[in-house]
Amino acid sequence: MPADYHMHTPLCNHAVGEPEEYARRALEAGLGEIGFSDHTPMPTTYDPDWRMTIAQLPEYVEKVLRCRRAFPELSIKLGLESDFHPGTEEFVREVIGRVPFDYVIGSIHYLGDWGFDNPEKAHLFEGRDVYPIYEQYYGLVEGLARTRMFDILGHPDVIKKFGHRPSRDYEALELRALDAVAGAGMALDINTSGLRRPAKEIYPSLRILKAARARDIGITFGSDAHEPARVGDAFDRAVALAREAGYTHSRRYVARRFERVPLA
Ligand code: ZN
Ligand code: FE
Ligand code: FE
Ligand code: ZN
Repeated sequence: MPADYHMHTPLCNHAVGEPEEYARRALEAGLGEIGFSDHTPMPTTYDPDWRMTIAQLPEYVEKVLRCRRAFPELSIKLGLESDFHPGTEEFVREVIGRVPFDYVIGSIHYLGDWGFDNPEKAHLFEGRDVYPIYEQYYGLVEGLARTRMFDILGHPDVIKKFGHRPSRDYEALELRALDAVAGAGMALDINTSGLRRPAKEIYPSLRILKAARARDIGITFGSDAHEPARVGDAFDRAVALAREAGYTHSRRYVARRFERVPLA
């Protein structure tokens, strides 16, 4: 099984289980490598309760390093999942620079102030033309890539999370975003949490993954576990999807550099 690079800790206030419990679950699931990627501190201007504070960053790092010491038989990476939220780039750049992370996932969770992936805000999709929402989302993905601040694009088509899809063709939006991702040398997070949502699909779709393969964009795998039981969740399906798209290798990251490893 490939590494699970997308896992959270209780410091984000919406996950349960200490890193050691995730590590134990990873060993049970037969994983040889995991990485924590908890939500990065952000300026407090929006939804401050959904992530660690800047003062908690050292505690986060210590938790992960403590886990690494406790499980020498497991490779444990130190990562982050950062929001790309225009206007916060300098803040995030400074946070990322404070610690020698192995990788940083960049994710879009907000369109303006709208936390569109939050179930409590999902009703705002209702009765709207979904195409402009997708257009805005993929425009932000392009912007994320252009910052060159991130190694991996988190849950690449999470805009489909609640099952809303435009009635007209929107593939061009995806392709333009992928061109930017390729230009930045980033990988895609093949994220199995979408299977547990109304979208009932891994992020990203097979269509996106095939286009990514054609652009030589790398891949990593993530469960987006917010509880230990989810570590490595549905990775057999994720690997099958990657193979179907033509992938033979995934990436592993150390100190923000990657190497290619064959898909097991
Ligand atoms: Zn989260
Ligand atoms: Fe996310
Ligand atoms: Fe996440
Ligand atoms: Zn995530």
